[in-house]
Amino acid sequence: MEMLILLAFFSGGVLVILHGTLKKTKWGINFHPSKICPICGTPFPKFLRRPQNSAQALWGGNTCSNCEAHFDKWGHYIGGDDSHLYD
Ligand SMILES: [Zn+2]
Repeated sequence: MEMLILLAFFSGGVLVILHGTLKKTKWGINFHPSKICPICGTPFPKFLRRPQNSAQALWGGNTCSNCEAHFDKWGHYIGGDDSHLYD
């Protein structure tokens, strides 16, 4: 019985991650993260990602060292200095 509950629990988790990966939600896993800033093209740090806030530490993502824009792990712009959008 315990095995059945454990199995249900883990297969549910796998489904959530699978769905998140396909639909690009925060639960998904990005196997090909963006290597450069989508806005200015500045390369992100190769090996050591330094989270700038708790959301980045928890869910992944990057902050551009040049334009200071924030991105989620899928490379979607989620905030930061957006003055460049009004140039
Ligand atoms: Zn940038």
